Amino acid sequence: MDTLEKLLEAPHPFLDGSVKRMLIGGQWVPAVSGKTFESRDPATGKLLAKVAEGDAEDIERAVAAARRAFDGPWRKVKPFERQQMLLKLADLVERHFEELSLLDTLDMGAPISRTLANRRRVLGMLRYYAGMATALHGETVENSLPGEIFSYTLKEPVGVVGAIIPWNGPLGASVWKIGPALATGCTVILKPAEEAPLTPLRLGELILEAGIPEGVVNIVPGYGETAGAALAAHPGVDKVAFTGSHLTGQKIVQASAGNLKRVSLELGGKSPDIVFADADLETAAPGAGMAVFANSGQICSAGTRLFVERRVYDEFTDRVAAFGKSLQVGSSVDPKTQIGPLVSEQQLDRVTGYLRIGQEEGARALSGGSRVTEGPLAQGYFVPPTVFANVRDDMRIAQEEIFGPVLSAIPFQDIEEVIARANATPFGLGSGVWTRDVNKAHRLAKGIRAGSVWVNCYQAMDPAMPFGGYRMSGYGRESGLQHLEEYLNVKAVWIKTA
Ligand code: NAD
Repeated sequence: MDTLEKLLEAPHPFLDGSVKRMLIGGQWVPAVSGKTFESRDPATGKLLAKVAEGDAEDIERAVAAARRAFDGPWRKVKPFERQQMLLKLADLVERHFEELSLLDTLDMGAPISRTLANRRRVLGMLRYYAGMATALHGETVENSLPGEIFSYTLKEPVGVVGAIIPWNGPLGASVWKIGPALATGCTVILKPAEEAPLTPLRLGELILEAGIPEGVVNIVPGYGETAGAALAAHPGVDKVAFTGSHLTGQKIVQASAGNLKRVSLELGGKSPDIVFADADLETAAPGAGMAVFANSGQICSAGTRLFVERRVYDEFTDRVAAFGKSLQVGSSVDPKTQIGPLVSEQQLDRVTGYLRIGQEEGARALSGGSRVTEGPLAQGYFVPPTVFANVRDDMRIAQEEIFGPVLSAIPFQDIEEVIARANATPFGLGSGVWTRDVNKAHRLAKGIRAGSVWVNCYQAMDPAMPFGGYRMSGYGRESGLQHLEEYLNVKAVWIKTA
């Protein structure tokens, strides 16, 4: 196992500016066009690697490879063997976890403390899906037809899956797509985000090392409008598993219509986090803060609308702002850093745009409020944790997904009112409730229209618990049994026996 110090000192083939190829049919190949794009460290702007830029022609080749594997030898691989492959991959990921964490950190800016802390989750997912590989089954169903007719169901892999992921957690997002595909016997073409392709490509090397046959996992980096769009529209793809923004999600649904491929969508949100006066405010303040500031706010289910019961509003927002100011903003590779840079200049422009809009709308920044422009961090895309007070529900900063470390704090009076206001956006991904009153907890858990409700905690995740959205936060679930069902077809079989 490599230590972080050793990794940072030694030259690394993914960090030396060289060209990284794409994985198609078990081979590392350049783009048909010969084009590459650059991957840079958002903390320093340093060139990390040049990456083969896939587009429609490369997707064509990858879909053909995935189809050949699906119709060929992969079909005959037994669940137990798929389980062994996933377990081997998990062991390899564990052995190289520091390296994979460092690649995530350098490619998209998440602090190394955060990417290293993902170990339990990433390995847990791989081993969960390995376990599920041998646990999936159809059912015998008692029917009421006259005579002797036996009926049962078969669960069959849906086929070739196009997996499109965002940049905000490349290793976790890759495993979240590849794990269920392998467990169910599908084949997959993974299209990483153009901002952060390096970890998925390194994972591809480990996938081959784990003995996963050629063509079962293909990895085609490239831009969304070209490679992503070609994958979403391809008639040879049976399902698209998409994670990203709701605007792209809408395009995916349109593109999928040609062959009516199955689609699952994990999209964005504007999640409410509700603090009652009876809560343990000392625990709730850092809890509500990290619900937004973690990963510099670049988390789909971040609790960005903080509803605080009016009589503790000033006290609580001051606490969260003080907590935000106490967080260490800094270099992603410094183990003490809690808040790293935003992923790109484009994301910086987006977030600072909302900081301006918030102030123009009349909100007041209790902490943060502008990008870091002085000292060594001025070169990177750093925005400190920002708490906006004086926010109204109709402000854009309370309605639109910012995807930065920006919290909008809004006062409320009573429980019915806050349920209605919490539900008053088009999204429904995460939600939080902080209270010591179990009755309030249950009422909110039922009343909030969102895929997850966290009470006295935020962002708890487990491979066995479903995660996903209501309304414009998408449909389908990841993690849990339902996730695997998304990669399976159900076939009804009738056998007349007399
Ligand atoms: P994005 O929608 O811009 O891009 C996501 C992926 O889609 C990228 O790989 C991109 O290349 C690709 N893409 C872009 N245009 C495409 C098109 N026309 N056809 C096919 N693919 C296309 O999102 P982003 O900026 O990378 O990520 C941030 C968004 O993702 C936020 O809205 C966030 O909430 C959401 N997100 C959701 C979850 C979840 O689990 N619900 C998790 C992480 C991020």
